[in-house]
Amino acid sequence: MTNTKPAVAFIGLGNMGVPMARNLIAAGHSVRGFDVSESAREAAAASGIPVAATLAGALDGAGATVSALPAAPHVLAVHLGPEGALAVAAPGTLFVDCSTIDVATAREVVAAAESLGHDMVDSPMSGGVPGAEAGTLTFMVGGADAAFARAQPLLDVMGRNIFHAGGPGAGCAAKICNNLMLAITMIGVSEGFNLAERLDLDAETLYQISSTATARCWALNDYCPAPGPVPNAPSGKGYRAGFAGALMLKDLHLAMDAAQGAGVATPLGAQAAQVYGMMDLTGMADLDFSAVIRFLAGRGRPEEAA
Ligand code: NAD
Repeated sequence: MTNTKPAVAFIGLGNMGVPMARNLIAAGHSVRGFDVSESAREAAAASGIPVAATLAGALDGAGATVSALPAAPHVLAVHLGPEGALAVAAPGTLFVDCSTIDVATAREVVAAAESLGHDMVDSPMSGGVPGAEAGTLTFMVGGADAAFARAQPLLDVMGRNIFHAGGPGAGCAAKICNNLMLAITMIGVSEGFNLAERLDLDAETLYQISSTATARCWALNDYCPAPGPVPNAPSGKGYRAGFAGALMLKDLHLAMDAAQGAGVATPLGAQAAQVYGMMDLTGMADLDFSAVIRFLAGRGRPEEAA
């Protein structure tokens, strides 16, 4: 029987890209991956992903590309220019960029794709590496209806909740706004638990009360930064990321740039960016972002703690 699923070029074989590409293969897609880093290509190949030595090699014969790249400059470098993916791909290729980038860059690349006869969506994700491995990511998708309809079957393989947020750039807007709110609430919850400790109020007791009272939110109920109440949260595993503080800082910078451009007041977002920035300076940014509770308590990395 012929495989009717599009062959996929997967660009960016990092922490997220490798498990996402593996899920596409498991679902029956023919996948060829590419990464600029030789060690990333080798690691991907070792985990069962066929890799190409060049971007053009990965695109050869592909009906769709999925990309998971660090930041906007990488997304521009991969897609634009005479050697870029948009120029090299066969006309009518579907492009699904899952990187977290600014709205203006997302719109620029989608417009360039459409001008060359391709379909493209910006489709940033949340759920972290565990979500990528389990195929349970949330995708926030921006793009035309037809592009979204083409992207949805691929996204269904890699994720569980797929939202069409609006036109080009709307996916990135949703991701940036969500993480702005999350960064602030995580700091708020951390301050509450740090104060409770000084007031001799047990973390379990505060959790039982606040998780059912007016402070309840995902940062508290599902991802409590104080160790104990949610054993599966990073706080129960030495704050191994999870979602690294460095990535939260990156998203907050995107949010602050967006807020400045749009003339929106985000005083707590600005404070949150300062807090995660200082956490970064103290060498804690590789830890999960919920380790901000330790930073705020002046505690440093878990293994250095008394
Ligand atoms: P990563 O740094 O682990 O992987 C990115 C890969 O892209 C690297 O292997 C890098 O070598 C490669 N790359 C860079 N430039 C390239 C180019 N020009 N051509 C081909 N490959 C290139 O990053 P990640 O953790 O996989 O994250 C990818 C994206 O997903 C980021 O935008 C991040 O913000 C977002 N994201 C990450 C998480 C997470 O928990 N890791 C969660 C949600 C969203």
